Amino acid sequence: MKSSTIRELFLDYFSSKEHLIMPSFPLIPQNDPTLLLIGAGMAPLKPYFTGEKKPPHPRVATCQKCVRTPDIDRVGYTGRHATFFEMLGNFSFGDYFKEEAIAWAWDLVLNGYRLPVERLWVSIYLEDEEAYKIWNENIGVPSDRIIRLGKADNFWEIGLGPCGPCSEIYFDLGEAAGCGSPDCAVGCDCDRYLEIWNLVFTQFSREASGELIELKQKNIDTGAGLERMAVALQGTHSLYETDLVKPLYDHFYSIADPERRNQEVPLRIVTEHSRGTSFLVADGVIPSNEGRGYVLRRLLRRAVRFGKLLGIEGNFMAGAVSLVAETMGSTYPELKERQNYISQVIKLEEQKFQETLVQGMEILDGYIAKMRQEGDKVLPGELAFKLYDTYGFPLDLTSEILEEQGFMVDHSAFDQNLKMQQERARAAARSITGQDYSEKYKIIENMTTIFTGYETLEQEAKLLLTLVDGRLSQKVVEGEQVEILLDQTPFYAEAGGQIGDTGVIEAPDGRIKVENTVFSPWGQIIHQGIVTEGRISPDETVRAKVDSDRRQGICRSHTSTHLLHRALRHTLGDHVNQAGSLVAPDRLRFDFNHFSGMTKEELRAVETEVNKMVLANVAVQAVVTTLEEAKELGATAIFADKYEEKSVRMVSAGKYTRELCGGTHVSATGEIGLFRIVSEEGIGSGLRRIDATVGMNSYHQVVEREQVLERIALALNTAEGLLKEKFNEHLAEHKLLLKSTQELKQRLAGYEVKTLLAEVKEIEGVKLLSAAVSADSFESLRMVMDEVKSNFASVVIVLGAVNDGKVLLVGSVTPDLVDGGIKANEIIKELARRVGGGGGGKPDLAQAGGKDASALPAALDSVEELIRKQLKSVKQV
Ligand code: ATP
Ligand code: MG
Repeated sequence: MKSSTIRELFLDYFSSKEHLIMPSFPLIPQNDPTLLLIGAGMAPLKPYFTGEKKPPHPRVATCQKCVRTPDIDRVGYTGRHATFFEMLGNFSFGDYFKEEAIAWAWDLVLNGYRLPVERLWVSIYLEDEEAYKIWNENIGVPSDRIIRLGKADNFWEIGLGPCGPCSEIYFDLGEAAGCGSPDCAVGCDCDRYLEIWNLVFTQFSREASGELIELKQKNIDTGAGLERMAVALQGTHSLYETDLVKPLYDHFYSIADPERRNQEVPLRIVTEHSRGTSFLVADGVIPSNEGRGYVLRRLLRRAVRFGKLLGIEGNFMAGAVSLVAETMGSTYPELKERQNYISQVIKLEEQKFQETLVQGMEILDGYIAKMRQEGDKVLPGELAFKLYDTYGFPLDLTSEILEEQGFMVDHSAFDQNLKMQQERARAAARSITGQDYSEKYKIIENMTTIFTGYETLEQEAKLLLTLVDGRLSQKVVEGEQVEILLDQTPFYAEAGGQIGDTGVIEAPDGRIKVENTVFSPWGQIIHQGIVTEGRISPDETVRAKVDSDRRQGICRSHTSTHLLHRALRHTLGDHVNQAGSLVAPDRLRFDFNHFSGMTKEELRAVETEVNKMVLANVAVQAVVTTLEEAKELGATAIFADKYEEKSVRMVSAGKYTRELCGGTHVSATGEIGLFRIVSEEGIGSGLRRIDATVGMNSYHQVVEREQVLERIALALNTAEGLLKEKFNEHLAEHKLLLKSTQELKQRLAGYEVKTLLAEVKEIEGVKLLSAAVSADSFESLRMVMDEVKSNFASVVIVLGAVNDGKVLLVGSVTPDLVDGGIKANEIIKELARRVGGGGGGKPDLAQAGGKDASALPAALDSVEELIRKQLKSVKQV
């Protein structure tokens, strides 16, 4: 029977018994901070069992994906223990109880799956007479087939609270599968008697006093391993031979070194871990040094290590992701949907570890040889720590290897070293930022926040903590300015010129407006914002939603900087390197080195090239790779940035550009829309800056310009298309008008001078003109004066004009008359006094301004008198 049929049959059977069939929950517990990973069908249903939540239906059945880390050491050594497996289960929340649960399980096993009754055994808890009676009397299982087991095996209990006896169904795989011991029987630890189904009857509650009391609401929780059912139904001896796992086993067998592939345990371990790791990454786990991330890391590193024993080369775990997706993808579509992502995450971790493994193993072998020589049994903690710190050897890997050869690790000395290192890291963080983060923000130092925003803009997450002023706050309420940490978030924290995301975080009883997202000194993602509604507390499940329009605008800008970089290098030369950038919604700034300002033609060429790349609408893709590989592929790196050798993200836009970049991008260049350079300027020696717009921003600017043109066309009373001709027409007309006014002015001035010449009189042999004329500036007033003067060899001229209510005065005396004692500056000074102003100059030329226009005629009349006085005083001397 195919495993897909086994799954279907189970769910159909319980559906016919009025169960609600629920899909598998994710491996990451959704609302349960006490649980690392889902390890049983009942785990995600816990709130229904405790009565904390009302179940959608009193009867539920599921096929739940599970990860059980405690079984990791048994993987490979038994044929029935996996870290990843699927658990079929039926559940009753205070509805049916023991009688139905037992009867249905037996019915399905016997009549649904048609397992031969002579190979079936059952176990009960030794004191559970009720179960015995049901099995023996109701069902008819002979008493010698009902095994009574003790507390350890058949009483389910975790701490205080609900608990109860279990009853299991076993399938006999036959003598050949067993240990051969004379006491081998149901409950033996070997593979012969395979526990396929466990029925848990939650009927008691363990009180603090130690007493067991009967529960009012009795529950049923059963679990049947799908892989184990398949073992029984497919006539195999281990889960590695079932259709769920065999394709993977065969694959690893085929890529293993032919001389070493007969090593069954390593082959099984690699096979088994390939499933769990893929599923964990698919559900959002990322390798790290703690929590779920560590489970994943441990599985991967263990697989890599055993892969080495099999002589398998390369990133074989990443290589198997597609096969996992192929075998399991129809039931778990997330494997197919995220296949690329999964293999990238795995590849990265694998690669990192592959490299350190070789070195680490050598060193550890050295330690072991020395211990052997000196008769030591315990590896000093500091050496284990060095392996951990420098070569990425997890402590349990070190102790596993040591134990295989009969040695041990000093765990507490290891812990001591770890603590000291964390202290050092803290001090370093302080000195880098120059701020004392050890007090404020200290609480977040060892937390992990995962960025999911390359794939999604909206994400359910657990609120890890809320900070006010850098200090932990248990509850924040409306109006408070807060900083929030989530276990995972789609919000991009400001980095590499790209500004931080904004958006909202919705909590069950509140709402936060996220105004910015930044990195902490230790790399955690911090959402900064204000509580706009209600209240928010840690441990709540929230929805984090990035402002998607704004982010899209940012993506457009970011991809554009890459295209601009390439176009600049193309047009100006390969010396062009990015020196900095600002990536904002639909607006970008790009700083680069170049020795001179760009010409209009160069700017146009660059803008055109970028727009061509946009119109080509090539795909923009990001891959995680090593620095070395990225360099080989010709990726551009930014000078000032530091990259990790072993893991870089390379963003490419078709064949146009490849850059190392952690930012977010559009998925195809066409999304950028119109790219427009707004300005180009120098910002320091050899540094230039381009400001540009993209998307709707460019469009709006074009529209604005068009409106200006429209207005001009309207004013010129013409169509926009004729604007150029119309403008040239106007320009020509304007020139003509200028010319003719110039001529007119000259002619007018000529007439005026003629009139003025007629007004010249003679006082005591001195020719004098003192008159008011029309002039709008000193300059034109002087021009008239010069014109008059040119008609005489010896003359005194004083001219006045009124312009805009102000008086202008100029005066000139020919040198001969200056010698004779007439001084222009003195005359003008006196006149200025009379018109309420001031001025000055020299004896031959002077000018002044005044405010009292009405006093001008009298002032001009007084010049004759002034000259007489001056002449007189000279004679007296
Ligand atoms: P075992 O004693 O064989 O480890 P268990 O008592 O731990 O099993 P349960 O916790 O009762 O198992 O889980 C319910 C069912 O899930 C089991 O009857 C078995 O079919 C399946 N199962 C449990 N652990 C594993 C595992 N590590 N790999 C595959 N299937 C498992
Ligand atoms: Mg177990």
